[in-house]
Amino acid sequence: MTEPPLTSPQQEEDIAVGVAIVRRDGRGELIATTANQHFFKLLLTQQTGPGSFPAPLETLVPPALWPGFHDTLQACFASDAMRGTEHIGTVHTSTQSWRYSLTPLTPLIQPTPPACANDSATPLEILFTTVAIAPPSPRSAAESATNAARYRAVVDSAYDAIVTIDQSHKITLFNRAAENLFGYSAAEILGQRIETLLPETVRAHHSQNVRKFADSPLTELRQMSPPRMDASNSVFGRHRNGSIIPVEIAISKIDVDGHTEFTAVVRDITDRAQLMDRLKKQAVTDALTGLPNRREFLEFVEKMQRTQDALSVFILDIDYFKEINDNYGHHVGDEVLCVLANVGVNQTGEPSLFARWGGEEFVAALPGADAAQAHAIAEQLRQRFERQDFEHDWRVKPIPFTVSIGVVTREAGEHDVEALMKRADRALYRAKKSGRNRVETG
Ligand code: GH3
Ligand code: MG
Ligand code: MG
Repeated sequence: MTEPPLTSPQQEEDIAVGVAIVRRDGRGELIATTANQHFFKLLLTQQTGPGSFPAPLETLVPPALWPGFHDTLQACFASDAMRGTEHIGTVHTSTQSWRYSLTPLTPLIQPTPPACANDSATPLEILFTTVAIAPPSPRSAAESATNAARYRAVVDSAYDAIVTIDQSHKITLFNRAAENLFGYSAAEILGQRIETLLPETVRAHHSQNVRKFADSPLTELRQMSPPRMDASNSVFGRHRNGSIIPVEIAISKIDVDGHTEFTAVVRDITDRAQLMDRLKKQAVTDALTGLPNRREFLEFVEKMQRTQDALSVFILDIDYFKEINDNYGHHVGDEVLCVLANVGVNQTGEPSLFARWGGEEFVAALPGADAAQAHAIAEQLRQRFERQDFEHDWRVKPIPFTVSIGVVTREAGEHDVEALMKRADRALYRAKKSGRNRVETG
């Protein structure tokens, strides 16, 4: 006597549950022993006739869904526990969600030997059921055209550049902002490789980075929205005219029919980058003279002190500078400071660093100079000021002034910049004490 069916064909039609029974063959490959018509309808795949079972499951499932199917089923075989999971994928350009339910089927009598290649505790078969959570609604051609036009309008009106590449890294979408940013029209750039938009220096590594990103696991839709890979990155693009553009970029990857596409949202940050550069420069520059400031000087000396190279420094102080201010006014005092800055930079030259220490005090770091060489440089500078041996268009009559200088040379193993500067200061003090307009070595 045959068992009465649990459901009538009509009920099966109404419930619309896709059912398949899956086992593993001797090599652990997934084999479908049967599948109902809803299974094929729901997964938007070609239905096979009843005579074609058993069949490799991979042949019954759209390629885009196969990795998810494979992993979920193998995990169920391994754990022998019921599983429920949701999955989203794109098949034939329509995005669809499914709920899967997997139930291990353990037979009442274990056959010998076990049909499964693995240990005998693993289930021999899994009952796989699936329902569509949001079945794709058939769209009219007009509706699809409207959606495409709306999508295009949104993409083209975006403030940011939007660039999509396919799995062979060829550009498939290039919006209006991208045309403005990179200087190419969509017509000429579509189909070209993404490297066209990158500076030559990074082109070689780029393919590798995209591949690495492509191989990272696809995040499931319910865990994120939109499917965005990483935070914004500041990088560089290349304009058609060869100029380099600082940009901020956020990249998403999306699985379309089993292929990975990338969409980059790219923002021009030229203004921000220029502002940052300006601020960085301001932070280490003296506003009046344009010389490096005390911070920049100390950093330079600290860096030098990490090497074994010879290094001398000096501190220079204008003699009786207060009187210049008092006699001619502060603005003339400022002019003297600027004159001194120009002459100091020219006299010391590369690789030295001439900086403003503060007020009417200046410092120089002289890499490679021993005590005698450093003293000679300082003495030449002192004499130039004394003789007013420099070109300058004074706004008033030329202002005579002299300077006192304290010179020191780094001792072997001396790493403390403060100690070095203190020694230079003591030498300067001696120069002042002994009558000014002098160079003293510490
Ligand atoms: P000494 O020979 O002992 O160095 O005498 P001095 O007058 O140069 O030294 P003092 O420290 O008494 O005076 C330094 C003066 O420098 C006082 C201050 O007003 C002036 N000063 C500091 N910074 C500036 C500046 O940016 N512009 C101008 N014009 N003057 C400044
Ligand atoms: Mg002073
Ligand atoms: Mg002074």
